[in-house]
Amino acid sequence: MSTKIKTAEELFGSTKRINATGGHKVNSLDLAKPLEWEQGFMRLFCEGCGNLVEINQRFAEVIFHSLDRKMPDNPREFYFQSKRCGYCDGQDNTIKLFAIPKVNA
Ligand SMILES: [Zn+2]
Repeated sequence: MSTKIKTAEELFGSTKRINATGGHKVNSLDLAKPLEWEQGFMRLFCEGCGNLVEINQRFAEVIFHSLDRKMPDNPREFYFQSKRCGYCDGQDNTIKLFAIPKVNA
């Protein structure tokens, strides 16, 4: 299974929406994997539909700005969690920042 990789435009500009059932949980092992996209900067997990995508630095900056937070020195140790994304029909625009749980190999 390949990681879905989309730009911010594609993320929020998509027209085909899947049902945002909510309550999805992110897999810590997936969060711990190295980013695959050459422009990948951080990950965004959608609790609404369960999609985990990589976002570029520009999009990450936009989210930090919207959260009124400064980007941490180690942004790759964090991920965003939303309740909707460009793939689903969720209505809640809440986005939160979480630390990626440490995975013991
Ligand atoms: Zn979604």
